[in-house]
Amino acid sequence: MKVAIIGAGINGLVAANYLRRAGIEVTIFEKKAVAGGACAAETISFNGVEYRYASGASVLGFMQNFIYHETGLAERLTAITPEHEEVVYFEGEESKCCLSEDVVERAATVRSRWGEIGDIAAFHKDLEHVVEFLCQGFKNAIVPTIDDARRVLGSELTSVWITGTARDLLSKYFTSEKMRIFYAIDVVESGPVSLDSQFSAFSIALMATGTVFDGKWGFVRGRIWKLIETLMEINNELGIRLIPDTEVVEVGSSSLNVVFKRDGMPKERLQFDRVIFATDPVSASKICNQSKLIETASDKEIIGTSGKLVMFFSEPVRWKFNEENKTDFDMAFKFIISTKTLDELEASAKASLQGNDYAPAFSEIYCEGAAMRKFGDNPNHDVISVFIKHLAFDQPGSSLPNVQKRVERQVLAFIQNPDSFLGSVLLTPRDLQTKFDFPGGNIDHIELCDKQTYFARNWSASPAENFYQFGDDERILYCAAGSYPCGSIAGTAGFMCARQLLDRLPV
Ligand SMILES: Cc1cc2nc3c(=O)[nH]c(=O)nc-3n(C[C@H](O)[C@H](O)[C@H](O)COP(=O)(O)OP(=O)(O)OC[C@H]3O[C@@H](n4cnc5c(N)ncnc54)[C@H](O)[C@@H]3O)c2cc1C
Repeated sequence: MKVAIIGAGINGLVAANYLRRAGIEVTIFEKKAVAGGACAAETISFNGVEYRYASGASVLGFMQNFIYHETGLAERLTAITPEHEEVVYFEGEESKCCLSEDVVERAATVRSRWGEIGDIAAFHKDLEHVVEFLCQGFKNAIVPTIDDARRVLGSELTSVWITGTARDLLSKYFTSEKMRIFYAIDVVESGPVSLDSQFSAFSIALMATGTVFDGKWGFVRGRIWKLIETLMEINNELGIRLIPDTEVVEVGSSSLNVVFKRDGMPKERLQFDRVIFATDPVSASKICNQSKLIETASDKEIIGTSGKLVMFFSEPVRWKFNEENKTDFDMAFKFIISTKTLDELEASAKASLQGNDYAPAFSEIYCEGAAMRKFGDNPNHDVISVFIKHLAFDQPGSSLPNVQKRVERQVLAFIQNPDSFLGSVLLTPRDLQTKFDFPGGNIDHIELCDKQTYFARNWSASPAENFYQFGDDERILYCAAGSYPCGSIAGTAGFMCARQLLDRLPV
């Protein structure tokens, strides 16, 4: 059995790993010179010194622990999560709130800092229940239906956590707007999804399903791209063939020919028994040339409103408000929230959709330099990645110096040694489209919204039987960020798709 995988992002690489270990002959076609897709490294220089940075993903956390181990990654990588809990700042306030993992401690903190008197314990108990249900589906490579959810979780939890609106979920458990906004971040992390839309609640559970660090986020030694390099090394040893710098332009359906072109060469073709698309779904539909798929893809919500500001410093950054001098404070995940109510958060998403260059909502801060120091790699400089919301799609970052300065100022206000700041790179949804081929600049390829999430996040003519099938041909599959569960450096869709292919092979 010969399988072609189109796209060497995390999902293509994970799918290849599982298929090859099951004895399948695998060839990966990759348009770019290097594998990794939206897990990529770039270089910039300041004062003659070169700095490497992550232009796409920065941190690890959404991966399933079994995938981390079964692919062979766990044996070869070192990854850690900060000891310090997440730190939340509200812009304009001279204080911080540290969200302990211990539910009782967390409840006490948010009561005193944010006046939150909701049922935090019930929220975490129900969340755990839903997460366990979803993780079981990942492990079994079975995408659950609404009926499955009702059977396992009951109707109440299913309507609150899966089919319902984020606003209803947040109002059920929390009383303070600050607490509600903090959890609403998960809903709008990649795109402008309304908190009042059906299935918007689901993202809150979905984003908590990573098990590599038990629901938390962390860092990979050598930076996140080391994970891709390591998986490439493992896949290479397994005998997987990767053809870089090669764009697939057509997949012929009658004899499953993959037609591809390399620089300056005439088109070539190779025949396979199965083809898996691990690219964005819009490009995949065109390459397949199935009119129904092209029509479906053109109906999808694809806009992204996230961007990234990577900040460079000549010395290690020291964060303010570390009065207790706690371990890993400088490395902790930090959030700066600019909106005060859910309505303001909703309005900022809408403003970016209407073309407002930057409608400040929140920034998630990944302290990559501090993590490098924790690994003992002691660079004398620092790099901080700031994942920002909400940005309009129209402009590249290079045309928005005022937005760049605004976000720089926002972050520097929380730093004790801002004089060491050298400069930054701003990437907007437009840049992400250009760099990574994301059709609308969305980091999940398509939005995580109603009709595009949970069981509806598929491209199959018969999802109940063959969820990862692409269109109406059983021999063609799709497994990248635009399928269930979603994007991220996780490879869950790649694994589930590979398992589906293997389970359906004739014995
Ligand atoms: C700015 C930013 C920050 C992010 N931060 C994080 C983070 O910190 N942690 C996290 O977990 N996730 C993060 N993400 C999300 C994560 O990077 C993506 O969801 C994930 O990389 C998607 O992987 P994929 O394999 O599904 O697709 P992709 O990475 O998009 O890979 C698709 C591959 O297909 C190739 N391809 C496309 N068309 C063709 C063709 N015709 N022929 C051959 N090859 C083709 C592409 O070149 C690409 O290599 C971030 C994303 C961005 C952009």
